[in-house]
Amino acid sequence: MDSSSSQSRSPTRTQREAQRSLHHRIATLEENQRTLERTLHGLAIETGVIVAGRCARCGKADMLGTDGMVHCPHCGNRHSL
Ligand SMILES: [Zn+2]
Repeated sequence: MDSSSSQSRSPTRTQREAQRSLHHRIATLEENQRTLERTLHGLAIETGVIVAGRCARCGKADMLGTDGMVHCPHCGNRHSL
């Protein structure tokens, strides 16, 4: 082992910059997600729709409840409450 191989263990400037930009992207995504959750919450209250938890069939969307029935807006899974 020479000194250059031990130096490569510490993150390079490029790696640090990549990590910083990744952290920035995650923070942006988290803020976007919170905005969508607040919007969805407001929409649910205004329309009287219940957001009833993740679809058990596809897991890609939350179940929406109206009139004693819940349905998945993604895959169409439907059952009574
Ligand atoms: Zn579904």
